[in-house]
Amino acid sequence: MEAIFDDIRSHPLYDHELNGCLNCGICTATCPSAQYYDYSPREIVQLLWTENLEGIYDAMQEKIWACAQCYTCAARCPFQNSPGGLVMIMREAAIKHGLQSVKDVLRPFTRVMLKVISTGNQLAPNMITPQAFPDWGPNISKIDAPLTVLRKAIPVPTLHTLDTAWIVNLKTSIELYTIWEETGVLQQLEVVDSSLYDVIVDVMDEKRNEYQDWLDEQDED
Ligand code: SF4
Ligand code: SF4
Repeated sequence: MEAIFDDIRSHPLYDHELNGCLNCGICTATCPSAQYYDYSPREIVQLLWTENLEGIYDAMQEKIWACAQCYTCAARCPFQNSPGGLVMIMREAAIKHGLQSVKDVLRPFTRVMLKVISTGNQLAPNMITPQAFPDWGPNISKIDAPLTVLRKAIPVPTLHTLDTAWIVNLKTSIELYTIWEETGVLQQLEVVDSSLYDVIVDVMDEKRNEYQDWLDEQDED
């Protein structure tokens, strides 16, 4: 717990996001997530301000994942705290320390992450199905429609395909991989989901080889 708190406290933004706390509850009163979840930004800030290590560790098991990162709290706090920013720092520490809560939260998004990392896009329209997104409820039926037919009905030229818009230029993909490597995203992913990490490294290697072949061809020309 101490190691986790040390990481939170030593984050470069920590002192900027936490300046004291009146315990006034304005942040919680305006927080949309507090309306729906067992979650209170006031509680998070108090835990950090009083350095309640057990409470911080406990909040990192579930509560910090309820924040929607809208920063309404930061706009309202009379102390100019940013509870949403503090939650972000706690999430980073949770990832770094491989807490089980991170794995639980990310599990439903594995497909989306694979799509983002392998193609650079988040979601192809044909991935939106009731089976893949049961948490969307009955309204998904409005989206889960015969997309090929619907697209043909659009009067502007869309190439009538589900795929073309989702193909990312090879060079762009390589640049994205470089950013993920340099910023530590891949390192974090390895801690959270080593199987997904292995798949993504394979995809990256393949694309890099493809890109290198393309460069070699250009040199020959
Ligand atoms: S950033 Fe998070 S804590 Fe702040 S108001 Fe939005 S949901 Fe609530
Ligand atoms: S973080 Fe700010 S708004 Fe929230 S309880 Fe503390 S002083 Fe009040």
